[in-house]
Amino acid sequence: MKVLVINCGSSSLKFQLIDSVSEQCLAKGLCERIGIEGSMITYAPAGGEKEKKVTPMPDHTEAIRLVLEALTNPVTGVVKSLVEIGAVGHRVVHGGEKFAASVVIDDEVMAAVEECNDLAPLHNPANLIGINACRKLMPSTPMVGVFDTAFHQTMPEEAYLYGLPYEYYKKYKIRRYGFHGTSHSYVSKRAAEVLGKKYEDLKIIVCHLGNGASVSAVKNGKCVDTSMGLTPLEGLIMGTRSGDMDPAIIEFLAHKEGKNIDEIMNVLNKKSGVLGLSDNLSSDFRDLEDGYHKNNDNAVRTLKTFSYRVAKYIGAYAAAMNGVDVICFTAGVGENAPLVRTFVCEYLGYLGVKLDQEANGKRGEDIAITTSDSTTTVMVIPTNEELAIARETVRLVSQA
Ligand code: ADP
Repeated sequence: MKVLVINCGSSSLKFQLIDSVSEQCLAKGLCERIGIEGSMITYAPAGGEKEKKVTPMPDHTEAIRLVLEALTNPVTGVVKSLVEIGAVGHRVVHGGEKFAASVVIDDEVMAAVEECNDLAPLHNPANLIGINACRKLMPSTPMVGVFDTAFHQTMPEEAYLYGLPYEYYKKYKIRRYGFHGTSHSYVSKRAAEVLGKKYEDLKIIVCHLGNGASVSAVKNGKCVDTSMGLTPLEGLIMGTRSGDMDPAIIEFLAHKEGKNIDEIMNVLNKKSGVLGLSDNLSSDFRDLEDGYHKNNDNAVRTLKTFSYRVAKYIGAYAAAMNGVDVICFTAGVGENAPLVRTFVCEYLGYLGVKLDQEANGKRGEDIAITTSDSTTTVMVIPTNEELAIARETVRLVSQA
């Protein structure tokens, strides 16, 4: 079956068409500036030329229509007609407590996702718009929703509750949910597969280090803790997000800088993280690594502080699981920044971690980067959220 995977944001939309048998990506692309002047679509068939076209996209329905047109284009398209697309898998950011697994989308599911909008006001409404646009243009194609939060729904109460009045949990469902679940699930399963071990027998820590970053603890095939919370602001220091901090800083900054809540939240989400910590050097780890090699103080401080926070979470999750067998690095930074992996692993001597520097220098493959006598295995596993969504979509559609 050919599965169209859609990841819809408020003004952008990423797509991939995946053949579920070969698990190969047949074509992929991106629509940008939807509803804004200067919208454009980028389309790349596998092994073909990437093309970019500036074209009006007043709304998401038009964006999806252009995606379908590109996929069925007689010259550069990869399918003859839309009938060949057997199902659509949608990434949905927040499934709240309602969705502990992926679901086939119907009107009832749409209403339930809408109820989670409060929990992810920037993401869920955009996801719903994308689903609605697809349903309009492909009314008889089954659609599946795959939630970023679902994998973390197995967390026990002691991991997901905050030390806040319990009534807020009862009234508003304020609790930790976690994100990047599709990636944490894919990577932890893949690690077990690569090692030839049973997923259910392992204690795995996954460090998903991208622009957004989170760590999760996966014990015997179930997530037992993760670093993001009610929102993706909690946890690690990220590209531009602060991660964990004393909540009283908000009040302190409000007084000192004369900022209101919205302005402060904007600082915490968009101007903090490695961008802020490096005194605005960059939010991109390529620049920070570059700076580190040139002895730039801002880069050194930032990489050290970022890595220390990752190492602390690994320690916390080794404690939560009473041990750890495998630690995985994934996503843009986790897969491509050997320096960050080295800094993190320097803290892990107590886990018997012995880094193999040659393996740590490789890129783009599923690989163990520790020596054979290392007590804990550290691996790099490239994530593939689109493939994971396609797999989930096929699984659900075949059951229906
Ligand atoms: P997201 O999906 O959260 O936007 P990604 O997982 O794509 O993020 O990661 C993007 C980040 O990965 C970039 O901002 C950059 O910091 C980092 N990155 C990508 N390539 C490299 C590289 N070769 N070396 C170091 N860091 C890299």
